Amino acid sequence: MLLSTDAVTTENHDVLVLGSGLAGMAAALSAKEAGASVTVIDKAPETSRGGNTRFSGGALRCPTAETTPDMLIEELDRITKGRANRALARVLYGRAEKDVQWLIGLGAPLVDPSVERPDLRGGKMSYHVRGNGYGLVESLYPRLAERGVACKFETKATDFLTDGNGRVCGVRAKTRTGYVNMLARAVVMATGGFQANTEMRVRYLGREASSLIVRGSKYNTGDGINMAMAIGGQSMGDWGGFHSAVMDARSEPVEAGETNINSYPYTLMVNRDGDRFVDEGADFFDVTYVKYGKAILGQSGSIAYCLFDAKLAERELVYCLHREFEPLHASTIARLAQNLGLPGDKLQATVDAYNAAVQPGDFDPETRDGKATQGLQPPKSNWALPLDTPPYFAFPVTGGITFTLGGIKVDERARVIDTEDRAIAGLYAAGELIGGLFYDNYPGGASLLRSLVFGRLAGQEAAAQAQAQTTGAGR
Ligand SMILES: Cc1cc2nc3c(=O)[nH]c(=O)nc-3n(C[C@H](O)[C@H](O)[C@H](O)COP(=O)(O)OP(=O)(O)OC[C@H]3O[C@@H](n4cnc5c(N)ncnc54)[C@H](O)[C@@H]3O)c2cc1C
Repeated sequence: MLLSTDAVTTENHDVLVLGSGLAGMAAALSAKEAGASVTVIDKAPETSRGGNTRFSGGALRCPTAETTPDMLIEELDRITKGRANRALARVLYGRAEKDVQWLIGLGAPLVDPSVERPDLRGGKMSYHVRGNGYGLVESLYPRLAERGVACKFETKATDFLTDGNGRVCGVRAKTRTGYVNMLARAVVMATGGFQANTEMRVRYLGREASSLIVRGSKYNTGDGINMAMAIGGQSMGDWGGFHSAVMDARSEPVEAGETNINSYPYTLMVNRDGDRFVDEGADFFDVTYVKYGKAILGQSGSIAYCLFDAKLAERELVYCLHREFEPLHASTIARLAQNLGLPGDKLQATVDAYNAAVQPGDFDPETRDGKATQGLQPPKSNWALPLDTPPYFAFPVTGGITFTLGGIKVDERARVIDTEDRAIAGLYAAGELIGGLFYDNYPGGASLLRSLVFGRLAGQEAAAQAQAQTTGAGR
């Protein structure tokens, strides 16, 4: 949109970054390293800095000596049924190791997941940030000021400013004292998805999505996505899809945070009718939790219950990350059913059928132990221990929304692509708002990685563009 700059304060910037989450901070610090002068704006107050990143569990999926980038690309291909954009996947996993080292070099406290988060066992999350997302934001944020990156909070980008050639030359922003035209040589948008926008959720995800629990920042309302599409940015990705998780049903409706129960593969999951509906132990949680979060949303009342017994309780294998949420318990299955408001006979029948189907074998939470059921539908393919030792416990669980999967098309240089498949000059995008990598399902830990890798790339590209503008080489 071409907007008049009359009667509005005008500021001049070099590289302007929209959003203070991991993608925005990675972009800003990278652009600064590349020699640009950088300003970050965020519509949230400073105390709410860091967007969804702040709420995140801090797990990162990254190649290791045992897991090559090619293996992770194949995995992404498999779990998205071949829909993930391969070129972007190559960028994501190809740059990952170097970018993670860069993050560690900045002081981000990345550790082995087992240090703080045994629930991340198995799977391919190779790093965890001490203190989760909060720890990540608080370790990076001071680096901005130290390196001379300016940050303006309560400053909301509302429109892109374009010149006569269609090149993005800044944003119009709303501040507490009025509108400002922030002119810039290059802009990186890192404003997150639209999960906190009820109207967009219903428009793209369906009517039922209006009441979803929003796990993260209330400020991620799709602004950057809408602004980019208003100047011809191309939509890309799974616009009808979203990331969910198996989380405690007692979570807050907005900004619920890490209330996950990632240990559900060891439990028996039943719906309000007392029926099982998924293979709880199909795999480690990191490749099933998004699918199963959505499967719970599809059950009556969007609720289910993770049942376990004293054997697992003694080993402290099943818990909610938000430790204040404790499981309900009872001395018999019938009493537990009563406490949960489930049909007692039905639940007992489900438990009896399951116990009868459990095959012998050693239970090992660290590996896919193959301790399975036989002749049961749905099966339980691993970690099938009989539910037979009182007291019995239950966590009420639901789905909720973490982030949306539809976004804006970018190329391998993080340039925003328009509907005619051309790069929009001066505009780069990173993080949650880029589409094309995740469809329907998602490999845990890959969104922070996407924010890091594309943030860094977008920052470097924006700095080069700003430099070219200065020397007159840029368009
Ligand atoms: C509870 C929870 C747990 C998670 N756990 C993990 C995990 O363990 N591993 C993983 O990989 N991913 C996880 N995720 C997902 C991951 O945290 C996010 O997808 C990722 O952090 C997004 O980073 P971002 O920088 O793109 O966006 P954000 O961090 O959301 O930052 C976007 C910023 O843009 C700002 N903004 C929005 N609109 C405007 C505007 N108009 N003008 C200016 N600023 C604006 C927002 O205020 C916000 O600060 C989790 C998410 C949640 C909610």
